[in-house]
Amino acid sequence: MTTSLINSRSSQHADAAYLHVPFCVHRCGYCDFTLISGRDELIDVYLEALEIELSSLQSPRPMQTLFLGGGTPSHLSLSQLSRLFDLLDHWLPTTSESEFSLEANPLDLSWEKLDLFAARGVNRISLGVQTFNDDLLKVLERDHSGTQALEAIQRTRSFVDNLSIDLIFGVPGQSLDLWQQTLDLAIAAQPLHISTYGLTIEKGTSFWIRREKGMLSPLTPELEREMYGRVMDCLSAAKFEQYELSNFARPGFACRHNIGYWTGRSFYGFGPGAAQYLDGCRELNHRSVTHWLKRVQSGRSPISERESLNDEDRARELAVLNLRQIAGIDCCEFEERTGFDVHLLAGETITRFLRRGWLEATDSHVRLTREGRFVADTIVAEFL
Ligand code: SF4
Repeated sequence: MTTSLINSRSSQHADAAYLHVPFCVHRCGYCDFTLISGRDELIDVYLEALEIELSSLQSPRPMQTLFLGGGTPSHLSLSQLSRLFDLLDHWLPTTSESEFSLEANPLDLSWEKLDLFAARGVNRISLGVQTFNDDLLKVLERDHSGTQALEAIQRTRSFVDNLSIDLIFGVPGQSLDLWQQTLDLAIAAQPLHISTYGLTIEKGTSFWIRREKGMLSPLTPELEREMYGRVMDCLSAAKFEQYELSNFARPGFACRHNIGYWTGRSFYGFGPGAAQYLDGCRELNHRSVTHWLKRVQSGRSPISERESLNDEDRARELAVLNLRQIAGIDCCEFEERTGFDVHLLAGETITRFLRRGWLEATDSHVRLTREGRFVADTIVAEFL
């Protein structure tokens, strides 16, 4: 194993980790995540490489939060999952006080797998529902139906209370009424957490190609805006607290792991395409699954990019991450952590957006207004 791999992790300490499981049955048309589909024969090789990568820690690191994302972690077989949990028990141990999240697809959640997840300490499941409408699920090229998603929610609840569901709005062909129907079903299903994302069509995806050929018609920005407004209204009426631009939770069930990202906490990253942030240094593993595998197997570092942020860049990045949260920037805490007064660091930007009504400032905080949440990307870009 290369020295650089050992140095980057063994000397740094974090109590949060993200582990990327890059396998899916097939690639959905809109997805540009790091993954490989239809290559299940690589899963065992991946687990071997993961063991090598985890051993770069050189000693076990107890975790406050651990997040298995993908790809589809739940796609692994029972024996492969057991092997993965054995590795995690050794290198990234959790306790009942930790938050241990796993991303899952509805069709994977058999009674046996749910039983295994609960037995191995998974206490939060994030389920990729996207929509309950079967026609829109076909547009998204998902492999489950709305009914199967509802059944998976019911089964999951028998094992894990803390269930989150992911929903997508802005799907070609989706009307405001169809979006409302999905929101109503989601609320009736009583998850403790809901994440909602506007569909983005990224270069390189089959959606991108189809849109270029005129075979896919995106929704208008005005309709997407209405859909985002509808989420905020409906979920708040249903007693979900919006704590981040895309995330809503019942009181006490905000995702601790993701809050760690938005508050600038250090975290490890393992697996292809995984990012880690340790002591102001951001590193990114190779995104190609086979490339990551070859590098780790041959003892080379899987890291493809490394960026050390200076003090001002760290402060600006923290301001952006804080602003994604509905609570916004706690000015005193920000200064204690970064040494910068946010009003001096970004005074002109703050004043400009206060005037437009997109930011609001109290004695202690600077945060997005409701109107500002619709144009959050534009606002945060000005803080960098
Ligand atoms: S299941 Fe999720 S990660 Fe896998 S291809 Fe579809 S959207 Fe991407």
